[in-house]
Amino acid sequence: MATPAKREKPRTQAELLHFVEELKRQWMSTIDAMVDPLMIVGPDFAIKKANLALARHAGLEVKKVIGKKCYAAFAGRKSPCPGCKIKDTRGGSDTKNFNLEGVQGERYYEVTSQPMTELDGPSVVHVYRDRTEAKRLQMQLAQQEKLASIGLLAGGVAHEINNPLGGILIFSQMLLRELDKESPHYQDVVEIEAATQRCKAIVESLLDFARQNPGEGKKQKIEEISILDAVRTAMRFGKVSIKPGTQVDIKEEFGGEHIVTFDRNRLIQLFLNLIQNALQAMPDGGTLMVRASAAKRGDKHVGLYEVEDTGVGIAPEHLGKIFDPFFTTKDPGEGTGLGLALCYGIVQDLGGALRVESNLNVGTRFFIEIPLVGARTLKTSA
Ligand code: ADP
Ligand code: MG
Repeated sequence: MATPAKREKPRTQAELLHFVEELKRQWMSTIDAMVDPLMIVGPDFAIKKANLALARHAGLEVKKVIGKKCYAAFAGRKSPCPGCKIKDTRGGSDTKNFNLEGVQGERYYEVTSQPMTELDGPSVVHVYRDRTEAKRLQMQLAQQEKLASIGLLAGGVAHEINNPLGGILIFSQMLLRELDKESPHYQDVVEIEAATQRCKAIVESLLDFARQNPGEGKKQKIEEISILDAVRTAMRFGKVSIKPGTQVDIKEEFGGEHIVTFDRNRLIQLFLNLIQNALQAMPDGGTLMVRASAAKRGDKHVGLYEVEDTGVGIAPEHLGKIFDPFFTTKDPGEGTGLGLALCYGIVQDLGGALRVESNLNVGTRFFIEIPLVGARTLKTSA
C-alpha cells in the first residue's frame, strides 16, 4: 500500500476519471477563491467558464453566466466593450494588459487577458481588477497638489498686490472728495475707484483661495454648526443675484440632522458658490433644486447635498477642468474661475467629497458628501 500522502498514478479508467474530477474541483475552488472576476472566453465572445466573483458581479448564478457574451455578463452591454483587446489576445502568444473605463458606470478596471488553446480552438482568460478607488485617490492627490502649488503662488501674488491696491483706493477716494463734480477729471477718478474695487474683490477671492486668509478681516471661527443653516443662508444670499425679470423656481428638499465642527463662513461660501454658478447657468430662468439629507455609512454619519440646475450644462471637455483655479468660461468681470477651486478646498478640509454630473443644455448637478459629528441636533441653537 502507498502512503496516503503520496498519490499513486491512476491505473484503471475509473481511477483516471476520479483523478480528473478531483483536479477539476481543485482548479474551480482556486478560481472561485479569487476576489477578482475571471472568465474564459471562447469564439464569438461566449463565456465558457466563470468564477464566483464574476457571477456575483453579473448578478447571476455561475451556470447562468456560461454561454452569455462576455460584454453582456460583465458590463450589461449589447456590443463588445470599447478598448477590449480580446481579439488581439486570441490566437496570439502574449498576455495583454489593458484598461476598461466607462464600460460599466464610472468604474475603472485593469484587465489581464491571456491566450490559451482549448480543444475547440483558441480562447482567452480574462481577469478584471477593479481599480476605481485607487484611480480616484490618485486623481484627488494630483488635484490637491495642483491646488496647493497654485494656492501658494496666488496667495503670494495677492499679498503683494493688496498693499498697492489699498494705496490706489485711498488716494482715489481722497481725490474724489477734493475734486469738484464738474471737473473734467471727476468721472475718470470714479472709474479708477470702481476698477480698484473690482481688483480688490479679485484679490480677496485669491486670498480666500490660498486659504492663508479665509475672508479679509474674518478669522476662521471653528464651532459646532448645522450645515442646513449654512445652506439656507447661502440660498438667501444667492437669491439676491437673480436678475430682475428672470423667472427662477427655487425648490428645496431637506431632511435629517447636519452637525459639523467647522467655520460657518466657509460653509456658506461653499454652497453660495454652487448656487451662484447654478443661477448664472440659467440666464433665461429655470429651476434651482437644493437637497440635503443625512445617511449612515457603516457607523459614520454623513450629510448628502445636491445643488441642481436646469441651465446650460457643462461641455464634456470642460468637466475635467472646472475645479482648476482660474478655469472659467465666463466673460472677464463675470467670473474669476476660483469658485469651484475654493469649493473643492473647503470640502477637502471637511474630509468630504465633491463631484458633478452635467448634460449640455439640460442641466448640472453637484453632489457633496460631508462627514457629520453624529445624528443629533445642535445643543444650543445659534
Ligand atoms: P466662475 O464661476 O468664476 O467661472 P467657477 O470655478 O465657479 O468659476 O466655475 C468654473 C466654470 O465651471 C464656470 O466658468 C462654468 O464654465 C462651469 N460651471 C460651474 N458651475 C456650473 C453650472 N452649474 N452650470 C454650468 N457650468 C458651470
Ligand atoms: Mg463661480
